[in-house]
Amino acid sequence: MKAALFEKAGHLSVVQRPVRSLSKGEVLVLVHSCGVCGTDVHIVAGESRSSPPVVLGHEFSGNVEDVGPGVKRFAQGDAVAVDPNISCGTCYYCRRGLVHLCSNLRALGVDIDGGMAEFCIVPEQQLYALPKHFPFASSAFIEPVSCVLHGIDRAKIVVGDSVVIIGAGTIGLMMLQLARAAGAAETIVIEPLEQKRAIARDLGATHVLNPLTENVRDAVRDLTAVGADVVIECAGRISTAEEALGLVRRGGTVEYFGVCALGRTFPIEPHLIYGRELTIVGSYVNPHTFDRAIKALSSGIIRVDEFPVTRFPLDGVQEALRYQQEGLTIKCIIEPNPI
Ligand SMILES: [Zn+2]
Ligand SMILES: [Zn+2]
Repeated sequence: MKAALFEKAGHLSVVQRPVRSLSKGEVLVLVHSCGVCGTDVHIVAGESRSSPPVVLGHEFSGNVEDVGPGVKRFAQGDAVAVDPNISCGTCYYCRRGLVHLCSNLRALGVDIDGGMAEFCIVPEQQLYALPKHFPFASSAFIEPVSCVLHGIDRAKIVVGDSVVIIGAGTIGLMMLQLARAAGAAETIVIEPLEQKRAIARDLGATHVLNPLTENVRDAVRDLTAVGADVVIECAGRISTAEEALGLVRRGGTVEYFGVCALGRTFPIEPHLIYGRELTIVGSYVNPHTFDRAIKALSSGIIRVDEFPVTRFPLDGVQEALRYQQEGLTIKCIIEPNPI
């Protein structure tokens, strides 16, 4: 089969690989679509942890091609999506229900061969059956939606809140829709690109701000009088991570969802966190949210049909990563076996 193999920083290439035979509890998935994520860009640049050589791709779905011994819940032909994050089940964190913080967490497409390939071998427990008529075009979004759902849970939005979302890429636009679903009365999206601001408007943002032409701190203060109840950073930049702390009201919550480069820092004045009684939370991957992600997409609570998507064959993986890195589209999707 063909697969996009990451060998070391800067080295990603499409290679031929044999498909090994299945062990107990494993399922062979014929991959239809696999999303390209900022994490993939970080991995190839050597800026994010991984275990090369490894086939990239952690946002994928397809059909069951074959099942190994002992697989009970799936049969050939079933439409499935894959939760890429595999926890050990026995460490301190797993036994406290914090599976995403597992000491031995491994992920398909990061540590184990993933979905940017014609086939992927997946442990049965990582598979989720897709409902009949689940739109194929939405399937590569299930994994990112599952992460955004965890982010919304962590933000603890209550009905009537004002919520600022920094960044209107795939993640910010999903966060916007879930913030509205969670009851936010005001959703203020900060985004420099007009095309993305327009989609945010279409998806119901009550206000969109262009940080290149306006002082967003003053604008948020004008719109909310006191600052936002909740600020969610989805851009993954140090400058916006720092700015987030200036947009929240006293007693409010700042969530760091966007992935800033490892090692980058900004100064914090603890007195302001103390005196303004801020809550600062992180949100990491997708514990127990995969089922809800499928429902959020199939019910229309999250719509992705307006997202400009660029589809690439497996051979176009380098170009897809470049598109992702340069922000030339909202989402790149690799189709190893197009439907
Ligand atoms: Zn991802
Ligand atoms: Zn564990």
